[in-house]
Amino acid sequence: MTEQETKLDFVRSIVADDLASGKHDSIVTRFPPEPNGFLHIGHAKAICVDFGIAKEFNGKCHLRFDDTNPSKEEQEYVDAIKADVKWLGFDWGENLFYASDYFGQLFSWAVHLIESGHAYIDEQSSDEMRAARGSLNEPGTNSPYRDRPAAESLELFHKMRAGDVAEGEMILRAKIDMAAPNINLRDPAIYRVQHKHHPRTGDDWCIYPMYDFAHGQSDSIEGITHSLCTMEFENHRPLYEWFLAHLPVVATPRQIEFARLNITYTLTSKRKLKKLVDSNVVDGWNDPRMPTISGMRRRGYPAECLRAFCELIGIKKTEGTVDFALLQSILRDHLNACAPRRMVVQKPLKVVVTNWPDGHVEMINAKNHPGDESMGTRQVAFSGELYIERDDFREEAPRKYFRLKPGAEVRFKYAYYLTCTDVVKDDAGEVVEVHCTYDPETIGGDSPDKRKVKGTIHWVSAQHAVDAEVRLYDHLFNQANPEEGGDYLANINPDSCQVVTAKAEPSLTEMLADVVQFERAGYFVHDITSTSDKLVFNRTVAMRDSWAKLEKKLQG
Ligand code: ATP
Ligand code: MG
Repeated sequence: MTEQETKLDFVRSIVADDLASGKHDSIVTRFPPEPNGFLHIGHAKAICVDFGIAKEFNGKCHLRFDDTNPSKEEQEYVDAIKADVKWLGFDWGENLFYASDYFGQLFSWAVHLIESGHAYIDEQSSDEMRAARGSLNEPGTNSPYRDRPAAESLELFHKMRAGDVAEGEMILRAKIDMAAPNINLRDPAIYRVQHKHHPRTGDDWCIYPMYDFAHGQSDSIEGITHSLCTMEFENHRPLYEWFLAHLPVVATPRQIEFARLNITYTLTSKRKLKKLVDSNVVDGWNDPRMPTISGMRRRGYPAECLRAFCELIGIKKTEGTVDFALLQSILRDHLNACAPRRMVVQKPLKVVVTNWPDGHVEMINAKNHPGDESMGTRQVAFSGELYIERDDFREEAPRKYFRLKPGAEVRFKYAYYLTCTDVVKDDAGEVVEVHCTYDPETIGGDSPDKRKVKGTIHWVSAQHAVDAEVRLYDHLFNQANPEEGGDYLANINPDSCQVVTAKAEPSLTEMLADVVQFERAGYFVHDITSTSDKLVFNRTVAMRDSWAKLEKKLQG
């Protein structure tokens, strides 16, 4: 094997072998979401696997909506899923399919199974069926209807189809083996009555196929070669193969399972995410705290970071939990390299420059990126009244506090060295204004006498700054495992969104498309859903915690 080949994960190895052996001339995969919610980061992984592998091997990947359950599915979800897959950077081209398009074919195949003695109508109640299924240790028991004549089952199946049967009154089951060690093979249900309107087929049907009876056959109809899914379907594979073996299908796809993606502080279940939406814990599916693709997009996560993350964690058979910090570190590395810089003061404290010429405004040249000259510079107004971060000043400061404190000199980034001379306090004794003098010789933030200052802080000019609402997001859950203690709703982090009104450089009003680095604070993106004139920014990710760590040290 070449070095290249030894690096392939187990799915790619299977695909490569099938192409090399001539089993397939080209490969076809599919991504099969059920449109019962918005896609989340787990789906992003599946999309990267399904579409990514097809692309690498010059094959195709279908987008197929697994819309066999009309009670939970909606058009809104179909539209959102399409938008999310595209945004992630993948394209199904002409290969957009719906399992519901195969209802006619699936119905004929169900009839085929009845006629060939491999399926029967069961009229037991659901409780009776459950009791007869047995357990992991005991075999199940045959239904009294199991050996009824095929003609009788066929007649009843047509009755079900005609709408003359109530929900739960009877179902169609495959006749496999009630003693099979794999419970999925104990005469699984394949069709049930549901008097429900379907978003695509309307009222054409009142019986709907079960997932297991639809999935493999849909794969076969579409000529899927490798049907990639998560490990929970491993026990369904024998059934997947049983149906294909007992039906007159042309193509026999191969199902291959890989481990789900789990991430700390993150729920990856549409059902549970829907609960958060329905119970207003979050502000919709695209709330920036949600691990949905739309939430992460609104949070400012670039699609390429999500793809890089999925690539890095790779495909394995064994389940594990990935640290959310890994995703954050990918985001920081990427954004550090490409995000333009701006100065924004989140918790403003006024600074008055006492020796500044009255009313004078100076335009200062500031780099848009410290390491990328091609991003150019901008002009920032400096004046006699500025805002700095409240945390950047301390009246009683420890020796190692290198920001502004009485008597100390610090660099105001790109501008001047300033020395704190005095403070103004309110009645409660809180500092409301800091007085400083500036050294005109230090223009541009450098001193000609090479005098050293240890601290550099950011600032905005009070009269020029614009207000921006800034949303500081943290984990939605306060437990690394959101299910800790059994109830994820009990583990919601009450401080997952803090809103502050910040003072920003006016040029921020022109930064509505890209993620911007607010100097020293982190990466932020304009909220795409905000319609008011007010600037609203979402925090994508904070800077590495070095400031927080230093702060702790200072306090300790
Ligand atoms: P959920 O439980 O969130 O509804 P699901 O598996 O039921 O997830 P589907 O819409 O049926 O959601 O899934 C579409 C595809 O995405 C499937 O192939 C499934 O295996 C895959 N998938 C779902 N969750 C994850 C995950 N956490 N990691 C990797 N792949 C996933
Ligand atoms: Mg599902």
